[in-house]
Amino acid sequence: MDCLFCSIVAGDIGSRQVYADEHAVAFLDINPWHVGHTLVVPRRHVDDLMGEPEALTEIAPAIAATSRLLVDRLGADGLNLLSSSGAVAGQEVFHLHVHLVPRYAHRPGLRELMVREDGIDLDRVYRQITGE
Ligand code: 5GP
Ligand code: ZN
Repeated sequence: MDCLFCSIVAGDIGSRQVYADEHAVAFLDINPWHVGHTLVVPRRHVDDLMGEPEALTEIAPAIAATSRLLVDRLGADGLNLLSSSGAVAGQEVFHLHVHLVPRYAHRPGLRELMVREDGIDLDRVYRQITGE
């Protein structure tokens, strides 16, 4: 199957990976809404949460650990968690993923969630999170 996130999990397509465990991988979103915007995906292919709600349990430890990592390393003031199931809900990549979006006091509120911040330096953010 031709799946972008399966290719990222397999390492065939590069990503800025910030966390991984037995069941899940977390990497920086290539087009971030806010500094540190990260996607957590199961290693196995699951289309979305509607088809397989129990997959969330599998990736829950990675979601928790990545959330903690982002907040600690980036000094975020809050965090949103979002997962879209189905094109009608805005899903564009059909491999289950949870968006973790660190939030900062200078741009508060739900209306600002999906408003992209220009000029985010992904390599710099990656270094800040991983310490590399
Ligand atoms: P969706 O709209 O399906 O919930 O989110 C898909 C997300 O995947 C988008 O936020 C988009 O920026 C991100 N994305 C798309 N292609 C790539 C890619 O090649 N690498 C990374 N790291 N993120 C991607
Ligand atoms: Zn996949």
